[in-house]
Amino acid sequence: MRILVTGGAGFIGSHLVDKLMENEKNEVIVADNFFTGSKDNLKKWIGHPRFELIRHDVTEQLLIEVDQIYHLACPASPIFYKYNPVKTIKTNVIGTLNMLGLAKRVGARILLTSTSEVYGDPLEHPQPESYWGNVNPIGVRSCYDEGKRVAETLMFDYHRQHGIEIRIARIFNTYGPRMNIDDGRVVSNFIAQAIRGEPLTVQVPGTQTRSFCYVSDMVDGLIRLMEGENTGPINIGNPGEFTMIELAENVKELINPKVEINMVENTPDDPRQRKPDITKAKELLGWEPKVKLRDGLPLMEEDFRQRLGVPKSN
Ligand code: NAD
Ligand code: UDP
Ligand code: UDP
Repeated sequence: MRILVTGGAGFIGSHLVDKLMENEKNEVIVADNFFTGSKDNLKKWIGHPRFELIRHDVTEQLLIEVDQIYHLACPASPIFYKYNPVKTIKTNVIGTLNMLGLAKRVGARILLTSTSEVYGDPLEHPQPESYWGNVNPIGVRSCYDEGKRVAETLMFDYHRQHGIEIRIARIFNTYGPRMNIDDGRVVSNFIAQAIRGEPLTVQVPGTQTRSFCYVSDMVDGLIRLMEGENTGPINIGNPGEFTMIELAENVKELINPKVEINMVENTPDDPRQRKPDITKAKELLGWEPKVKLRDGLPLMEEDFRQRLGVPKSN
């Protein structure tokens, strides 16, 4: 099986590559433009005979021969996807179109990593896949959430019109080792702040909720979806729901009981609550997350300490 992973030098992509490489029958090709990803995340595979890394931007045509495409390329953190919003929407729309064109030419199955952001600021809670969402089409997040919505539309149109085998995962907030340290996402922020001994910055009101999935569970869900018979969309996430204040308290207790928790300003259009309904994933994929937040946070700590150069004893 020859497998293309776009965005494979990123956080989730590199963990997915690690898992796919465990199977000796797989050959893995990563295409990445290194905007938010890094070769470091793949360093153990560089030079391996079953692995290939291509510097490539998915908004350009890609001519290769593969059996499966995991299409992850897209910055996921708000500060990175808002940095060049026009580029973000090109990545989502033209990038997905190109990967579908590739899938069509070579007859590959393609999986898109969509997002819980397609539900916007949801009026249904928890969110089932049947919910159409409440998204601002002209806001500062729209390049990402509307971009992913169009990407989903393209996937289904290529499926209906050209018979392409598609899989759509709607990923909820995911955390784990190799997250960008300064990407502004809440788990990476809090862990880096706790390790540096800085106050944890909870954005107001602090009662907004998220559900956090550990990256190994996420990768397991993505592979099951790809290998199964359902197109999706299927929510992949951990239904354990926490307010940002609760998350800060957990990080404080587990990583550095001495740090303070500060309330700071929020950004526009911040969804107030988010929790996946994973009934479909359980029934159709036999998947549910195994790692609880309190077990996953310490698993990130060592990787962050190493990269920040702050050993545990401090
Ligand atoms: P990430 O930023 O770590 O990885 C994205 C990768 O895509 C990076 O390696 C980046 O360099 C690459 N990339 C970006 N634009 C590209 C382009 N035009 N051409 C080629 N490569 C490009 O993000 P992640 O957290 O690993 O997210 C992976 C996927 O999962 C994304 O599609 C994201 O939208 C989706 N997702 C992630 C989360 C989460 O919580 N991490 C939640 C929902 C959805
Ligand atoms: N494409 C690609 N690799 C391929 C085949 C197509 O990158 O192997 C791109 C191509 O650039 C095109 C897009 O995918 O713009 C959509 O391809 P499709 O064949 O569906 O449409 P068309 O080329 O007819 O516009
Ligand atoms: N958040 C926070 N402190 C931070 C960064 C984020 O309280 O330092 C909050 C943010 O307001 C949001 C939640 O954490 O309600 C999740 O934000 P993140 O950017 O991690 O992900 P997303 O909004 O995409 O779910």
